[in-house]
Amino acid sequence: MYVRFWGTRGSLPASATARQIREKISRAIRSFRSQDLATDEEIEAFIDRDLPFAVRGGYGGNTACVEIGGGEGFVLCDAGTGIRDFGNAFLHSGKGGSPAVFHLFLSHLHWDHIQGFPFFTPAYLPNQEIHIYGGHADIEQAFERQQGPPFFPVPFRALRATIVFHTLDPERPRRIAGFAVRMFRQKHPGGSYGYSFVREGKKIVYSTDMEHRTEAGEEDYPFIDLFRDADLLIFDAQYPLADAIGSKENWGHSSNLLGVELAVRAGVKRLCLFHSEPTWEDEALDRFLAETRDYLKSHAPSSPLRIDVAYDGLEIAL
Ligand SMILES: [Zn+2]
Ligand SMILES: [Zn+2]
Repeated sequence: MYVRFWGTRGSLPASATARQIREKISRAIRSFRSQDLATDEEIEAFIDRDLPFAVRGGYGGNTACVEIGGGEGFVLCDAGTGIRDFGNAFLHSGKGGSPAVFHLFLSHLHWDHIQGFPFFTPAYLPNQEIHIYGGHADIEQAFERQQGPPFFPVPFRALRATIVFHTLDPERPRRIAGFAVRMFRQKHPGGSYGYSFVREGKKIVYSTDMEHRTEAGEEDYPFIDLFRDADLLIFDAQYPLADAIGSKENWGHSSNLLGVELAVRAGVKRLCLFHSEPTWEDEALDRFLAETRDYLKSHAPSSPLRIDVAYDGLEIAL
């Protein structure tokens, strides 16, 4: 199994500005100054070894879209702007023109989770099959409205792929695309759903747009069981703790520190902080990750949990 992140921002796409790119170049050149790098290999090694991720790369700006690989057909969570890049990569791959089946699991219908679909090229091709799953009853209407006038020039009904909508029951685990799939209810304005995918003894949990509140501290908090022994937990950590329980309480998102606490309690192996705050620049996300790792060291020093901040293009093999 593998996971590939195509979009990781929350709420709104966030592109890098000219100033931000210039700052990266400037910091990189200043770091090179005292180095004696004669060959291309030495330069590449220096970039990997000595430049922070915020300088040598960046977290990307697409909204939520995560590929869960290793099953049958293609499995995606959410259709934020990252799904456009996924669709284009599919078309440019060896499998591009051949018929494929896509399984798209939706957390909910807020814009940042569906806005990429009108730019999902396979939806325009007659030989493609797309299944869209979720817990909300009005998914089909939302997709139609998003492409209706005056918002978009191509109506949903003009899409040539076979598109089938499925409303799932959160109480009933299902077998879809070679995975045992469980959908669960989450606290978020308008409601949202998380998913766990299990195959060949590996478990991935996708849980975004979820606000864990004080009941998260209770011993029988149901999310501990849902996250239990996950090989990878993708967790909504849009805010630092102070914001999540302060000015942004009831906004429907959670914090990095709560993510660590729940992951440790549930015996999760790897935690990816997800739905990153769109106003945060790469350096701020580097700091956020460092602070989160520091918190793990003080909170559970012997924990083997690995923590990352998800970024567009991150691939994790499980
Ligand atoms: Zn969102
Ligand atoms: Zn939302």
